[in-house]
Order: sequence, then structure tokens, then C-alpha cells
Amino acid sequence: MRSSLPVGRLAPSPTGDLHLGHARSFLLAWWSLRSRGGRVVLRIEDLDTARTLPGAVDRILADLEWLGLDWDEGPLLQSTDPGPAQRALRQLLDSGRAYACTCSRREIESIQSAPHASDGTLRYPGTCRGRWASVEEAERATGRPAGIRFLVPPGPVTWTDALLGPRSLDVSEDAGDFLLARRDGVLGYQLAVVVDDARVGINEVLRGDDLDPSTARQVLLQDALGLPHPTWVHVPLVLDEAGRRLAKRDAARSLVSLREAGADPERIVHWAASSAGVPTRGPLPARSVLPLFPTARLTRRPTRLGAADLASLFPGTPPAFRSFEEPASPP
Ligand code: GLU
Repeated sequence: MRSSLPVGRLAPSPTGDLHLGHARSFLLAWWSLRSRGGRVVLRIEDLDTARTLPGAVDRILADLEWLGLDWDEGPLLQSTDPGPAQRALRQLLDSGRAYACTCSRREIESIQSAPHASDGTLRYPGTCRGRWASVEEAERATGRPAGIRFLVPPGPVTWTDALLGPRSLDVSEDAGDFLLARRDGVLGYQLAVVVDDARVGINEVLRGDDLDPSTARQVLLQDALGLPHPTWVHVPLVLDEAGRRLAKRDAARSLVSLREAGADPERIVHWAASSAGVPTRGPLPARSVLPLFPTARLTRRPTRLGAADLASLFPGTPPAFRSFEEPASPP
């Protein structure tokens, strides 16, 4: 039976250091769960081991603790237990919902001018759909290892996001038959996330809205595998003063560099809480936001974090963030 207790996760990828955008999403996810007595699972999404940065897992753990976050289960390292996702892959192949694909990236690029899915990945035109009777046949006939793709049904996928409202995306038009496992054997993010969420009973997924388009693929996989849908909450990303979303390359806003430069984590908490409409008066520990969080007013507008905001994360400067409750000071 599904637990009525909220269970959610923090799911960082160790492909780079966490930045203030991650800090905001993780604080919001943690407040949402903990303010209702829920459980928090920490999962490190390190399946693509070639892209894991040395030392990144330790830096992520230190960043989360510095922000004042804790968890009940984990850190679970995805790479150490791929068995359940591999079994789900086999189940999808056996039921005809997935098929072998021997196309290389270059071949896919050369068949189409440039259609990309809404998240920037290449749309797959379906070249290997119905082409091979099995993975073994595909590999024998081409002499190459095969990847595995999900056979996407036509038509829109619909779901409801607690913040964004009713959503709809036609995955067959957008990403096409997406990869479940690459030709080098690495399991795809979409499959792993769905299987690993279900196995620990995740029923609330609060994350950055860059992953909103992925949700449609995850809904399809949950339906194909008979897994429950969690409540989805996609929060707007944090933008810098030029309106660009914060990225892993932006060292000034990385938590590790802020931590080493002497920034105050309680000011980061104050900034994140204020940006969500939580009426905090000044810097405070993450835990102190819990009683106030039910009054949060999350909006669909992106949060700006300019240079002045960044400077105000350091002690000795006045905190620059106004709570939504306070009137703007006169000019
Ligand atoms: N590991 C993903 C990331 O860091 C997040 C996955 C998820 O929340 O579903 O972008």
C-alpha cells in the first residue's frame, strides 16, 4: 500500500559542483517534506561513471550538510545497484515496449536536419523500430553493441504538476523513442530515475523545471512498468543578472566556492526562503523555516540572483532580500 507520509528525494548528479540553483531546489524539497513530517532520501545519480568528477560526491555531501539539510536514507549511489533498472529493461524488452537500436549518434544526426527535443536532446526518428527481432540479432547482424530504446506510443502524455498545473507533451513528436540504455551499456537517466524512485517509495518529486519535459517520458515508463506516479512539483530555475540559468560552469555561484570564501549558509537559507514567499526576517538555519513553510507562495517566475544578491551572502553586508510580506522600501 502506498504510504500517505510524504517521501521525497534529493538527487544530485556528481558531474559537477552544486550551485545556488541546486541549493534552492534542495531546500524547497526538504522544507516541503520535513514540514509535513515526511522522509528524505539522498540519491547520488552517478550511473554515467565516466562523467563523475573526482571528489564531487564528497563535496556534494559537505555542501548539503553546510546548508543544514539531513536525510533518513542514503546516500544511495545509483551505480552500485543497477540490478532493478536492468530487470525493468528486460521486462520492457520482453513485453515488446522496448527494442534494440544500433544507430550511432552521427547516423541519427545525418538523417535529420536538426530536430531536437524540448530539453535539447536529439529526437530519434525511429530507424531501428521493428528492424531487429532481438538484441542478440541486432548485435550479430551489425557487429556492434546495441542500445535499447523505449517504443513511445503516439499522442500526448498528460499529467498535473502541483506548481505548473495541467501539462501535456507528445513524446513521440518531441524526443521520439528515447534511450533506456546506451550502446556502451550505461543505463539511461529516465529509466533509472523511475525505477529508483519507486523502489524507495518516493511519492513527491520536487526539482528544477529544466526537468519538466522529462516528466512526460517518466510518466510513460511508470505506466509501462506498472509503477505509481509521484506528485510532481517543478520549480523555476535561478537566473543570473544576464537572465541566464545558473550552470555548473559558473564557479562564483558554486556552493563549494561560496563555502570556502566564507559565505553564510543562513543567508542562503534566507534568500531561498524569501524567493519562495516565506516571511523570514533575516538569516536563519534551514530547520527554522519549517514552521513557516506552509505559508510559502511558490511562483512560476524564475528567481534572479544578481551580483548584489551574491555579495549579500557574506557576513558584514546587509542581507539584500526582502520577504514577500514586507513592503518595498521607498526609492
Ligand atoms: N540528477 C538530476 C540532476 O542533477 C536530477 C534528477 C531528478 O531530480 O529527477 O539534474
